[in-house]
Amino acid sequence: MLSRPKSTIARAARAIATLALGLAVALSGSLNAFAQNVPVVRDAEIEALVRDYARPIFKAAGLAGDGIDIVLVNDQSFNAFVTGRRMFINTGALMMAETPNEIIGVIAHEAGHIAGGHQQKLREQLERAKKMAVIATLLGAGAIVAGATTGSRGLAGAGMGVAAGGGEMAQRSILAYQRSEETTADRSAITYLNATGQSGLGMLKTFARFQSALSLSGAQVDPYRISHPMPQERIANLEVLVKESPYVDKVDTPALQQRHDMMRIKIAAYMGGQAAAARLIRKNPGSLASQYGQAQTTYLYGNLAAALSKTTALIKAQPKNPYFQELRGDILMKANKPKDAAEAYAKAVSLDPARSGLLQVSLGQALMAIGTPDSLKKAVVQINNGIGRDKENAEGYRYLAQAYGELGNVASAELATAEGHFYSGDYRNAKIFAMRAQQTLKRGEPGWLRAQDIINYAPSGKIKK
Ligand SMILES: [Zn+2]
Repeated sequence: MLSRPKSTIARAARAIATLALGLAVALSGSLNAFAQNVPVVRDAEIEALVRDYARPIFKAAGLAGDGIDIVLVNDQSFNAFVTGRRMFINTGALMMAETPNEIIGVIAHEAGHIAGGHQQKLREQLERAKKMAVIATLLGAGAIVAGATTGSRGLAGAGMGVAAGGGEMAQRSILAYQRSEETTADRSAITYLNATGQSGLGMLKTFARFQSALSLSGAQVDPYRISHPMPQERIANLEVLVKESPYVDKVDTPALQQRHDMMRIKIAAYMGGQAAAARLIRKNPGSLASQYGQAQTTYLYGNLAAALSKTTALIKAQPKNPYFQELRGDILMKANKPKDAAEAYAKAVSLDPARSGLLQVSLGQALMAIGTPDSLKKAVVQINNGIGRDKENAEGYRYLAQAYGELGNVASAELATAEGHFYSGDYRNAKIFAMRAQQTLKRGEPGWLRAQDIINYAPSGKIKK
């Protein structure tokens, strides 16, 4: 199941993300708060696939041990950016890319930014500009370039001095600096692609797409195009490197391409609606991905019995695919058959090589829906396991709280509610529920201590004393 945790899109945050060349620099507030302003999408299948794309690249970039998180953003535009240890990729990019190689190229480029410490360096450059008291001009200009007019308001309101001439100079120096980082990231990307025996053609295709999109319509400018300015020279340089590579003609394996096609159809079905999915289905009728798309659209917009029979056919074709079992579970839940759904989700969990906590939480939900004391206890175990693998799953805590509540375990329900609020960024309610949980919990026990951590947490990242 593809789910969209509710969160607001902060226009200013997006403007900053766009401004900073795919390197999001949070000028104020914590990165955590920044991440919470992005509409995040969670899905076991897509997360596993994108991580499979990234794993060899991160290894080649020397980032394998750094625990880089990949976060999927619900946004139709083609964009990707990094902030801290997190790489954000828009669902729009995943849907537009026709091959895994195109996304792998984007990941390689962004990994180049992380490995090069560009965010930190850009921050230093901006710091320097700030000292010249021209940051307001700089951001104002940046926001206009990005097509967003809301970005500079906060800074202008902060009463920063504006020195137009100096601002222009600082802006030019930042832009020149950013261009050099883009070239560095491109070169790094090619190094990683060569090290992993992959072609850079996907990267070139992505860049070329922006150029033609731009020439076709002057108005529709993609953020990735703006945040990654591509003078002809840069593309030409990249093209030389790509064509020099012994792996230029290497294509993605059919199995990986199939997973990619299934991902695209899934995003189309859940995010774009029936028509968007139908367009992709028509492109490759009869393929497994198209059958998957038909099962999903039938589940989402049509009849559950028909969706179930289409999904059974998919399972027959790929008995070891955990996500077909997950879809079966989703259909059975909607059909109000929680016992059968739990069986399907349990299969999904056991088949999942990526060990996604999301599938365990789904299993927990089905067990909760069965509603017997025994199944509720099992639900608590499954959801706790799921959250254990995936600490920031705010929705998981909500289900956990509900399961504890139904079992009459009030303190644990309150603590889980506090966690849910905490990971949604609602620190005020997190504290209220943590304090309520502490009234029943024994002082010093693990739950009490966790509640105390939540109470002490200050959104700036500093612990209040
Ligand atoms: Zn870049």
